[in-house]
Amino acid sequence: MGERIGFIGLGIMGGGMAANLLGAGFDVTVWNRTPAKSEALGAKGAKRAASPRAVAEASDIVLVCVSDTPDVREVIFGEEGVARGAREGMLVVDHSTIAPGETKRIAEELRGRGVRFVDAPVSGGSEGAAKGTLSIMAGGEAEDIERAMPCFNAMGKAVTHVGPAGAGQLVKAVNQTLVVGTTLAMAEAFLLAEAGGLDLRKTLDAVKDGAAGSWMLSNRGPQILDRDFRPGFTIDLLQKDLRLVLETADELGVPLPGTALIFQLYRTLQRAGDGDRGNHGLVLALERLAGFEVGAGGNE
Ligand code: NAP
Repeated sequence: MGERIGFIGLGIMGGGMAANLLGAGFDVTVWNRTPAKSEALGAKGAKRAASPRAVAEASDIVLVCVSDTPDVREVIFGEEGVARGAREGMLVVDHSTIAPGETKRIAEELRGRGVRFVDAPVSGGSEGAAKGTLSIMAGGEAEDIERAMPCFNAMGKAVTHVGPAGAGQLVKAVNQTLVVGTTLAMAEAFLLAEAGGLDLRKTLDAVKDGAAGSWMLSNRGPQILDRDFRPGFTIDLLQKDLRLVLETADELGVPLPGTALIFQLYRTLQRAGDGDRGNHGLVLALERLAGFEVGAGGNE
């Protein structure tokens, strides 16, 4: 394979994504802040670098998947960051979910150093990262996205070029707005069904394939009825994304009253020590307001 790939951030998402690049035959150099997390990939044939800078020195394309905006800045522009080891024409692709506005500034700063940049946040969760079935929303120049496409194809099943640098992060914010709105509607619908004495499983079956159907309802609805709040995506991580959505809405001067309310409802769950539960746990906040639980009766 032509270009040498670097990967920075081997967490739940990055670990699976880097493994899929290796599996597809790429020459991959990795770095993770906690070195132990790169051992398994090292055993599979990845080269382990001592710093983001060393990753850049060994790579033509550097992919990043870390937590939040300051973390992306740290691995790119820090003392031992990617920018220190970059050469003219190198491409940096950021798969983290971070602020759209800051993403544009990162792209500009890198351009000033002759380094290309694409923001490519992902959706599909840890399962999608492990299986190589992520949806990738890419912002940047068409030629750079074309250049990254062999990597994207190894990690994802759907890639959409949504606009210039920063647009990928904006689409991810749109995605998260849709996800939480659907989650709130699902929670309220279950409470209504419960209060009305309906059989909740029959109710779910009756509505899930009609106009009210959604991925959330089909996949997380049954989990709610089973009282299974194990996370596919934790409330704590989702709150980071909602903070980004609300900050972006503020910058753009657009009111998002529903999303703001949902952010506050999730905050009550964080205060109650439920931040490590799955995001479908939003129903728990509504149950506490209503004074009864979904599935507590009426579904025999
Ligand atoms: P994670 O398991 O918590 O991993 C975070 C990674 O970032 C770790 O490798 C961590 O290093 C590294 N990191 C954090 N801050 C750093 C810093 N200042 N310097 C260097 N490395 C740093 O998180 P994840 O689930 O993989 O999520 C990664 C990104 O993907 C996030 O932006 C998240 O919102 C997004 N995302 C996640 C999902 C999901 O379902 N999990 C889905 C779509 C998108 P250490 O190992 O040293 O802590």
